Amino acid sequence: MREDQLRALLVGAGYKPTTPRGHILALIARRRGVFSAAELLEVLGERAPEVGRATLFRTLDILIGLGALERVRLPGGQEAYLLCDPHHHHHVVCSSCGVIGEVESGALERTLTAAVEDSGFTLRSHALELSGVCAPCATDASPRPVRTASIVEGV
Ligand SMILES: [Zn+2]
Ligand SMILES: [Zn+2]
Ligand SMILES: [Zn+2]
Repeated sequence: MREDQLRALLVGAGYKPTTPRGHILALIARRRGVFSAAELLEVLGERAPEVGRATLFRTLDILIGLGALERVRLPGGQEAYLLCDPHHHHHVVCSSCGVIGEVESGALERTLTAAVEDSGFTLRSHALELSGVCAPCATDASPRPVRTASIVEGV
């Protein structure tokens, strides 16, 4: 998602496009793959030190609430973020290299809803933590380092 799309999403949801948020959106929009809050804080510290930690986490939470960003857990247990299309889907993390795939299944969603209804509840939201091995890792016996950093484009 581009910076202007992220901004439009925030404004559309009634959030003010403040300068600190603008710095954060610009940074996130350039990320490919997963990134950590610590990486963002490091870059912000160099380029926009006025943007505080609390503002960063608040903005990340807002973007998660709007479905533009997702929080995932890497094989090492660290939390990371991933820019995503705002439609409902799940992620599977490769336990070997940390690459993230998307999982979309109407059958899975219906099964979850039915299973929760069987327990006498109405499903309102859910999150799944899926871990597996990606195709390249499945065919490659040599272990590779877990990738936590993403490539920053245009910096
Ligand atoms: Zn996704
Ligand atoms: Zn892998
Ligand atoms: Zn789901």
